[in-house]
Amino acid sequence: MRAVVFGVTVPGFLLARSVGRVSRSATHGVLSGLRLRDWPEPVLPGPDWVKLSVLYGGICGSDLGNLSFTSSPLMEPFGSFPAVLGHEIVARVDEVGSAVTRVRPGDRVAVDPMLSCGVRGFTGTEVCGSCAVGRHSTCGNAGEEGRTLVDGTPLARGLTIGYHADLPGGWGERMIAQESQLFPGDEAIDDRVAALIEPLSIGMHAVLH
Ligand SMILES: [Zn+2]
Ligand SMILES: [Zn+2]
Repeated sequence: MRAVVFGVTVPGFLLARSVGRVSRSATHGVLSGLRLRDWPEPVLPGPDWVKLSVLYGGICGSDLGNLSFTSSPLMEPFGSFPAVLGHEIVARVDEVGSAVTRVRPGDRVAVDPMLSCGVRGFTGTEVCGSCAVGRHSTCGNAGEEGRTLVDGTPLARGLTIGYHADLPGGWGERMIAQESQLFPGDEAIDDRVAALIEPLSIGMHAVLH
């Protein structure tokens, strides 16, 4: 599939950041970490996973900070690269694993991109304190490889889809997510508005909690 991919090395980051101070255009040209390229088609890593076709992927301020090298592109230790960017996502369900009950093929869903211990494949006493009380956005295992196997290898570390080497984000044609991350919504809501449910949810969380 085709995808917008961000990948940069530490030396590349330092060079682009230095040159970018002199010429902003440099960070959007040859030194940019951003490329439109082919990316492996994602496959379901388990029976409770879902394959999605992306309808819209928003551009977050954190994406702009990474692309302009004004924030750390590596987001250590909570990202893995290269990564298909995009974590503000509305998508259509293509394929569901055998254990999926929350969505069906054809459903339009908003995606919670944050990765929980459950997504990583941790159960029982391995579940971190944050996930145990439903606060998976601060998952204490974000810096660890997961038990979930993606193409036979452990799920890479990472806090969120969109900055994750194994889980392509909303700037690609297709992606995968565990069903717990998916929220079917009112089809009357315009796709472009539905893509903003993720940032809206962050604002609502700040106000309500
Ligand atoms: Zn964001
Ligand atoms: Zn956790």
